[in-house]
Amino acid sequence: MSDCLFCKIVARTIPAPLVYEDDLVVAFDDINPQAPIHTLVIPRKHVVSLAELQDSDAELLGRLLLVGSKVAKLKGIAEPGYRVVVNTGSHGGQSVFHLHLHVLGGRHLAWPPG
Ligand code: 5GP
Ligand code: ZN
Repeated sequence: MSDCLFCKIVARTIPAPLVYEDDLVVAFDDINPQAPIHTLVIPRKHVVSLAELQDSDAELLGRLLLVGSKVAKLKGIAEPGYRVVVNTGSHGGQSVFHLHLHVLGGRHLAWPPG
């Protein structure tokens, strides 16, 4: 999608600190980190949100979570633990409408979220 920020990061027309990439997904550090480690994992293809996923996206969704786990290992937070968040829609706090996983860690994270 031509006017989507994260599609531009996938296309490398906007720079971002890449952490990992493969044929289906790209991971890069968040520009406004909410924890010492804050990395976003996104599909290369434009999907608006979790709410828009189709049954045919099962492999993509699996890959996103697997890469979230891989990123946590790469960043050294698999132990003592981390959080994966998918903000969805207005009440979910989503601000960029290209599906993304937040991988957050490096400090104790409070629960419940605000
Ligand atoms: P959301 O609020 O949609 O769940 O998360 C969007 C995230 O994208 C936010 O945490 C925000 O800081 C991050 N973000 C927004 N613009 C950019 C950008 O240009 N580069 C990077 N690396 N992250 C961004
Ligand atoms: Zn997009």
